Amino acid sequence: MKLGVGVDIGASKLRVALGTREGRILRKVVERTSFATLVDQVERMIKGLVGSLEVEGVGMGVVGPLDIHKGVINPANSPVKGIELLEPLKERLKLRVSMVNDCIAAVVGVHSYGVGKGVENLVYVTFSTGIGAGAIVDGHVLLGKDGNAHEVGHMVVDPEFKLPCGCGGWGHWEAYCSGANLPKFAKLLSEERGWEFEKSLMYDISGGWDGLKSEAIFEAARRGDWMAREVLEAANRFNRIGMANLINLYDPSLVVIGGAMALNNRDLLVEPMIEGIEGMLATRRPRFELTKLGDDVVLYGALKLAFDPLNP
Ligand SMILES: [Zn+2]
Repeated sequence: MKLGVGVDIGASKLRVALGTREGRILRKVVERTSFATLVDQVERMIKGLVGSLEVEGVGMGVVGPLDIHKGVINPANSPVKGIELLEPLKERLKLRVSMVNDCIAAVVGVHSYGVGKGVENLVYVTFSTGIGAGAIVDGHVLLGKDGNAHEVGHMVVDPEFKLPCGCGGWGHWEAYCSGANLPKFAKLLSEERGWEFEKSLMYDISGGWDGLKSEAIFEAARRGDWMAREVLEAANRFNRIGMANLINLYDPSLVVIGGAMALNNRDLLVEPMIEGIEGMLATRRPRFELTKLGDDVVLYGALKLAFDPLNP
């Protein structure tokens, strides 16, 4: 049995798995990501899992932006930038190591082992801390010049550019609708519309703007809070624009949706986003599915890349 190692380096979690080409995970470890000591951490976790076993290679899905040719990463949500990852790991592990952007790994995972198995025109979209996508067009995984294709969270959806994005731009999709930023959008709407936030269930749950998390907005909406419902209505308008743009760009036959925020809120995020999207499409409507690989979707793609790297 041939074994490979998949590594998912996320903004908050670092997952490493030992598994087979068929996508069976035999062992897995998860730690909090430490960007300041990343190479040491990844090396230690891999060596701990592999022990004296023989492996074919290591595939990594890494939070972007990054340069897959130089093997350097510049994680958006970390103060540490310019981390040289690939060459030191190759040297220390004496293995074939390759890396791609995490959303690109995710689409490979979905295409290899998930609900998009074998689908030639496939888009994966994640709604979590940020918003990102990976695309397979005519059976080819699209990478881009540095490996940062489909940074769709930074598509402009607001022509009034009301909110700044973590990347430095304005009006970007994830500046309004990602898990990290939805509370900022709620605050903007509250100010614009003159809401008495203290009367909202969002306030009861969070105790104030500083403590407001996107989960609380969904919970309040589910319990009937009209302010939270208006926030989600406004967010879903932007989600529909982003999703329609993606479909018009890549003409997929299947769109797979993942990320904790979407998976936990099918009723309040996924369904309202998809409803009525036809009116915004120039292309034939694709099918939509939720990923069944859950939190491990990037890890599965990384495992596949351990055997079949895209950029060896
Ligand atoms: Zn941005």
